[in-house]
Amino acid sequence: MMDNFDILPSFFLGCGAEYDESGIVIFGAPFDGTVTFRPGSRFAPSRMRSESIGLETYSPYQNADLEDFSIFDAGDLDLPFGDTSRALEQIAGISKYIFKAEKRPLMLGGEHLVSLPVIKSAFEKHPDLRVIHFDAHTDLRDEYLGSKLSHANVLRRCWDFLGDGRIFQFGIRSGTRDEFEWADAGHTRLHRYDLCGVDAAAAAIGGAPVYVTIDLDVLDPSIMSGTGTPEAGGASFSELLGAILSLRPLNIVGADIVELAPHYDASGVSTAVACKVMRELLLCMAKR
Ligand code: MN
Ligand code: MN
Repeated sequence: MMDNFDILPSFFLGCGAEYDESGIVIFGAPFDGTVTFRPGSRFAPSRMRSESIGLETYSPYQNADLEDFSIFDAGDLDLPFGDTSRALEQIAGISKYIFKAEKRPLMLGGEHLVSLPVIKSAFEKHPDLRVIHFDAHTDLRDEYLGSKLSHANVLRRCWDFLGDGRIFQFGIRSGTRDEFEWADAGHTRLHRYDLCGVDAAAAAIGGAPVYVTIDLDVLDPSIMSGTGTPEAGGASFSELLGAILSLRPLNIVGADIVELAPHYDASGVSTAVACKVMRELLLCMAKR
């Protein structure tokens, strides 16, 4: 009816398919109520959508195009700011709905705690689940300021149901001594400082179902200053891209990209980097 007008899409670049025909469902979880330092990641999903038009749908790295696949972008959940448990319930609700329909979610955070209900739902669907975790931070505290539920302990809460040896962590360069010792005692497979070892982890995981969670502060602050808890000494974009490409053979059943806080980077480069990570991760998931 309005074909005469060029109207910018309201969905992420190249992800304008209908829900029924899509195997991957994008949704935003704009929540940053438990962050320990600087808030702002609640603005990430909408900003990523609007900035994604600066990219091409085609990836030369993977010789694949988002328009070759049917991907649906549901938009953002309308989450109750300041009510953590109700926000997590709503994220769990949409996650279970997507898994029940035999589809795969790709969530845009939000702070890292929003990953917990998606990973829990993935585990309920796939009891054999493994988790691949890119982050500067361990996220393994049992409690932070008396709370069991914050972005500082999201992977510890995942361990509660996943158990030992199922969580593969990369790029980790910040945490308490207790967290590193706890991980090294065999609870998680924690790789320090860089992304070396992703290939070996992928080989070890084989055909098991995998959830991929990317905390963008795994990247160096020189290319990802737009994040709440920047941590020097991080990965380059090329290193993260290489790691994502190593995941292509895996059975990725769900994923998320969290902790972009766009307002801390007035240049907009952090958001552009996040959008490119998103495109490559989407193509890595779609191609299987
Ligand atoms: Mn994190
Ligand atoms: Mn982090």
